[in-house]
Order: sequence, then C-alpha cells, then structure tokens
Amino acid sequence: MKIEAQQSLKDYNTFGLDVTAEQMIRVRLDSDDYRNRDISELKKILKANKQRLFILGGGSNMLLTQDVKGLVLKNEIKGIEIIRSFKHCVHVAVGGGENWHKLVLWAIKNKLGGIENLSLIPGTVGASPIQNIGAYGVELKDVFVRLEAMDLKTGKVKTYYHQDCDFGYRDSIFKRKLKGKVLITRVVLRLSNAPHKINTSYGAIQKVLAEKGIQDPDIKAVSDAVIEIRSSKLPDPDKLGNAGSFFKNPEVSATKYKQLLKAFPNIVAYHLDNGKYKIPAGWLIEQCGWKGKRIGNTGSHAQQALVIVNYGKATGEEIKAHADRVIKSVVERFGIRLTAEVNIY
Ligand SMILES: Cc1cc2nc3c(=O)[nH]c(=O)nc-3n(C[C@H](O)[C@H](O)[C@H](O)COP(=O)(O)OP(=O)(O)OC[C@H]3O[C@@H](n4cnc5c(N)ncnc54)[C@H](O)[C@@H]3O)c2cc1C
Repeated sequence: MKIEAQQSLKDYNTFGLDVTAEQMIRVRLDSDDYRNRDISELKKILKANKQRLFILGGGSNMLLTQDVKGLVLKNEIKGIEIIRSFKHCVHVAVGGGENWHKLVLWAIKNKLGGIENLSLIPGTVGASPIQNIGAYGVELKDVFVRLEAMDLKTGKVKTYYHQDCDFGYRDSIFKRKLKGKVLITRVVLRLSNAPHKINTSYGAIQKVLAEKGIQDPDIKAVSDAVIEIRSSKLPDPDKLGNAGSFFKNPEVSATKYKQLLKAFPNIVAYHLDNGKYKIPAGWLIEQCGWKGKRIGNTGSHAQQALVIVNYGKATGEEIKAHADRVIKSVVERFGIRLTAEVNIY
C-alpha cells in the first residue's frame, strides 16, 4: 500500500467533482489476508498516521465541496465467498471494496436470492450498511448478518451484529455515532437458496413484469425489471453527475399530516407503523417548481426531482447552494425541513 499525494478525486465521486485529496491510500486486502487476519500493514499505517482520515468507497453518496485534507482511505478490499451453507440459505462474506451491483449479479448467477431488488445501486458493499441501502421494498438489513470494521484509532477489528447496527430508514450507527471512526472491511449477508421469496410489492416492478408477460418471476426477472426501471428514470452518473436521491423522505406526525392534508388535499403520503406519515421528498420538491429547473451548472433532474445533477462544470459549493435553495422553498411552502441523504463535506 503506497501513499499517493495530491490525487484528483474527479473519477472517484459520482457527482464528478474535481477536488483533490492531499494524500490517498488504496486499501487492498483479499480473502487470504482476512483469513490470516494479516492486516498488520494497514494497522501500521493507521498507527503512524497523525492526519485526519477520510473513507472513500465508490463516492456515490457524497458531495465534496472542498479539497480533502489529510489521508483518504479508498476501500478496495476484495473477495466474495460462501462461508457457511444451510438448507435454505448461505452466508456470504464480501470484501468491503467490492462493487455492490457486481455482488447482486454474482448472487443471481449463483441462484442466491434476497438482494435482486437492490440491483444497480452504485457504490461498495462496505458502504451498504452505512445508510442501510434500500430500494423496491427491500433494505440491506433484511439480509444482513454481521460486519467487521477496523477502529481507525486503535487498528482493532471488531464484529458488529445486526442488533449492534441500529438500522433505520437510510440510517445506522455508522452514519451517526461511528461516522468516520471505523472502516467497514467485510460484510456477511444471508442469501436464500431456491425456492426464493420474491418481492414484487412495488407497482413499477409488477408493471414491467406484466408487460413482459412474466407471471411467475424468478430472481433474475425481478433484477432485470429493477434495472429497466432504474435505467429509465435515474440519470446515469457516467453521463450526468449525481448522487441518487439527494434528500431523505421526511416523516411527519399525524397532527402535522392532518394540517397538510387540509391545505394540500392532493398531498401524497404513506402511513407508517409508528403512527407517523412519510411524504415523498420528490413530491414536495416538485410542488415547489424545482423539477427540471436548471440554475447555472446544476439543477433538479427533469424526471426525478429528488436527484440534483451536475451538468458538467458545477462545483460542490454550487450544488450545495442548489440543495439549500430547495430546502428553503420546501420549508416556506410546507413547513417541512428536508434533510440530506447524501454526505456533505
Ligand atoms: C444513481 C444513484 C442511485 C442511487 N440509488 C440508491 C438507492 O436506490 N438506494 C440507496 O439506498 N442508495 C442509493 N444511492 C446512494 C449510494 O449508491 C449508496 O448510499 C451507496 O451505499 C454508497 O456507497 P459508496 O461506496 O459509493 O459510498 P461513498 O459515497 O464512498 O461513502 C458514503 C459514506 O460512507 C462512508 N464510507 C464509505 N465506505 C465506508 C466503509 N467501508 N467504512 C466506513 N465508512 C465508509 C464515507 O466516508 C461516506 O461518509 C444511489 C446513488 C446514485 C449515484
């Protein structure tokens, strides 16, 4: 592992922002290193390090508004292996630097189910528990068994089980108390053997399957449907810089929802088990007139108002200013403050 100085991060964040990392190390361990727990080199580097550390996965959930001072640890820890087999499922251990969608395709090829609804989500496996990635009725927590993470101060590797992670909607302990404190090196998931429980609860998936005349879909058919839907409505970061949904969908109390319903009878909302209502942030933003609106080098995407895009030359500050404008107008119109799903630096 060698330290690279003054490394441009343009190709390593999906907004395509040209910021520079003062120093960067590609953390490369493979399954054998893991088996032997031979991670002493990384430990040594961390022990000697006096600088601020910054963890980078696929850069698909971050907005970099400035150069990164200190040392960037780019997670390139590889390896996908079945470590336990049961009658109905297997446990798969995956290096934190593996690409998430590559794992989904590997699972489908090996007839293992549970993550097909999470097809085409960008980023690394190591980042997947951080915001408990989710799409089309499935969240990472549904298949999560445990993870290993290295304490960036002591170099010690600790195992975190499901109950330790405090998973929530686009949230976990790693986005709060442990943010920036640990490097997730390996994740263990429970994937099902056939026959799989197929989740087609989302209307969009049902529609695509019906159009194809598929009545009894397998995991590949569901994955293909999800890929088709996502490709048609979300901008491809390789063509138009973005970080997916910029904001979380806000939850409001029943009282607040009643007030909103009175003022905006066509409001879209979903009743939650905790008695609150979830309102799609995209709907709120669209109502404020932002959908498809471009200001300079940035703007809200024409097909998905929740996505903020970089038309090519935007700076992180410009994108942040756009996000702030959106937040302000939603507060003024609905009295709801949107919070960012994206990590802002
Ligand atoms: C087009 C598009 C669509 C998307 N769709 C979805 C979606 O449907 N559902 C969804 O949930 N998300 C979605 N996202 C967001 C994103 O893909 C996920 O949040 C993903 O898990 C981020 O992974 P990453 O490796 O790119 O993380 P990064 O952006 O590199 O990092 C995100 C945060 O996690 C930290 N981090 C990264 N790796 C580690 C690690 N190994 N250990 C400790 N900390 C770490 C970073 O420091 C940073 O704070 C989408 C993004 C894009 C661009």
